[in-house]
Amino acid sequence: MVVQPKVRGFICTTAHPVGCEKAVQKQIEYVKSKGKLGGAKKVLVIGSSAGYGLSSRIAAAFGCGAATIGVMFDKEGGGNKTATAGWYNTKAFEKFAASEGLYAKSVNGDAYSDECKKQVIDLIKSDLGKVDMVVYSLAAPRRQVGETVYKSVLKTTGAPYSNKTIDLRNNSISEITIEPATDEEIEATVKVMGGEDWEAWIDALKAADAIEDNAVTLAYSYIGPKLTHPMYFEGSIGRAKAHLLETSKKLNQKGVRAYVSVNKALVTQSSSAIPIVPLYISILYKVMKEKGNHEGCIEQMYRLFERISSGELNLDKDGQIRMDDWEMLPEIQAVVTDIWNNISQENFKASTDIDGYWNDFYAMFGFGIDGVDYDADVEV
Ligand code: NAD
Repeated sequence: MVVQPKVRGFICTTAHPVGCEKAVQKQIEYVKSKGKLGGAKKVLVIGSSAGYGLSSRIAAAFGCGAATIGVMFDKEGGGNKTATAGWYNTKAFEKFAASEGLYAKSVNGDAYSDECKKQVIDLIKSDLGKVDMVVYSLAAPRRQVGETVYKSVLKTTGAPYSNKTIDLRNNSISEITIEPATDEEIEATVKVMGGEDWEAWIDALKAADAIEDNAVTLAYSYIGPKLTHPMYFEGSIGRAKAHLLETSKKLNQKGVRAYVSVNKALVTQSSSAIPIVPLYISILYKVMKEKGNHEGCIEQMYRLFERISSGELNLDKDGQIRMDDWEMLPEIQAVVTDIWNNISQENFKASTDIDGYWNDFYAMFGFGIDGVDYDADVEV
């Protein structure tokens, strides 16, 4: 069938198999052009089909030459419905890995569940013995524990917060007020996006003797500038990220080298859903592209793996790896803040890289990729 994008707000409900494959190939080519890395050889990536997790897997496989097992939560296509982008990305990744003799298997299931952990651990034991790196890159709206479903919220804590935002349905600037989360909502967000499940994975791997002593484990966080703090860093999601950091300390005491890497703000399926942040990202893209230091997920993750394999982690005072170093440069943030303060509907297009934002958005679903014939019939 001919596959066209169907965008509803910050979600695209279709994905293009050929476009997704080409986008994955482009990431692989980038890594290969940068050269080989040392380090991890047997890597488990939890949340491996999109965004930072997919790029981590590509950097591990094509940079370090690692065998990889990926865990994702995606839907297969059928009838006149396309699969999710993550499904096509994973198929493409496995195909390119196989063509270079790299081991790559994926488990499609709920990473929070015991069954999924067991299935993955059985696969590690039978195929790899032990893993030497675990990347935890889940971004999920909910987590089921027994009969209870915890739902994460994107709200402030304490007081309501008003600021500018962009309505992605019509690219219009408006004012938004984010209401504070209740204690129960904060707790649920920490359950979903905090470190509890990361720790459960490491505990399960250790109990099964499926992880090397001194293995590296990574989880991803975000801090960002003051203007997004009430929404993010100090919001309900920020509480979950604080819990992730505390968990990394606990995991270090359990004999793994656990790090939180603070990554750059980028267009992904998860970040598109956060109020205020997409407007910030569209300004950030413009400023960083003009300064020549803009990066996407794969550039960030290659640089992260480079740091890990060289051992030059440059940890901050809290022990975190700072891949947001270029985003947070004072000269970048000064220009971003200036644009933010003066932005209006009239100067919106000229003041932001909204086209770059949307290009990245469509590319996540395999659309707008060079060399793809979007009028052609494709197998979904
Ligand atoms: P994403 O939405 O692009 O990818 C999320 C991945 O998690 C997908 O592979 C998805 O299949 C998988 N997943 C979701 N629920 C799952 C489940 N129940 N079981 C198994 N897999 C599941 O997200 P992303 O933006 O790459 O985020 C990854 C991490 O990076 C998050 O911790 C996020 O907070 C962090 N981060 C993101 C940004 C950003 O700007 N996007 C910046 C810094 C840090």
